[in-house]
Amino acid sequence: MPTVLITGANRGIGLELTRQYASAGWDVIACCRKPKEAGELTALKVEVKALDVADAASIKTLATDLKGRSIDVLLNNAGILGRRIGFGHAEPDEFLELQRVNALAPLLIAEAFVAHVTASGQKKIAAITSGLASITNVNDAASYAYRASKASLNMVMRKLDYDLKDRGIVAAAISPGWVQTDMGGTDAALKVEDSAAGIIKVIAGLDAAKGGGFFGYDGETIPW
Ligand code: NDP
Repeated sequence: MPTVLITGANRGIGLELTRQYASAGWDVIACCRKPKEAGELTALKVEVKALDVADAASIKTLATDLKGRSIDVLLNNAGILGRRIGFGHAEPDEFLELQRVNALAPLLIAEAFVAHVTASGQKKIAAITSGLASITNVNDAASYAYRASKASLNMVMRKLDYDLKDRGIVAAAISPGWVQTDMGGTDAALKVEDSAAGIIKVIAGLDAAKGGGFFGYDGETIPW
């Protein structure tokens, strides 16, 4: 069975991705900051590993721990929203923290786990981005910091796809839609089950032609 490694697997979209991959028979390496507090995740009886994506040492430690394992799908889901603040309120530390978690971490994770992915059958790296990353869409209240971090993430994913093509790896950025989670809130349009099912289908359909793309959970291409 193929193996998927999922970050931020203890709640929200990451937890549901874990549930659906596990019930489809995949081996899931479910990562979260605090495994001892991840009751819902532990109940799924998957392999749970500690990973704080904001901590480069934590990423390296896990990659070493998993040395020799092949990972078919490296799924960067962990992310933070920050405060919904508009023009005139930029806060440097917060802006940089969003860049660190949302954009830099998937790059560091790709560097640390490239051998695991190269050794696998499917060789895919995916990241959960946001429609708010789209440069064509600036027409609502979401913050500069969040939008900029996800736009950075999109560039990281596209460049990874370009750089890792010769190893047979494809990389893509996938927006989950507006989803009912702690981050999306209860008014969100989508149930987490539907978003996760869509994301899994998009990942299953990734091939060299789709590598480097920016897709919605419904498989539609989103303008950069
Ligand atoms: P939640 O806030 O519900 O969950 C976020 C997850 O990310 C949690 O598991 C959280 O862990 C984890 N996380 C945050 N920081 C770190 C870190 N430093 N190290 C490890 N894990 C971390 O969000 P969603 O499930 O809604 O979001 C998942 C992804 O989807 C994110 O990338 C988000 O930006 C994106 N997204 C979500 C949308 C939505 O409508 N919900 C819309 C567009 C994009 P912990 O419990 O430890 O905090």
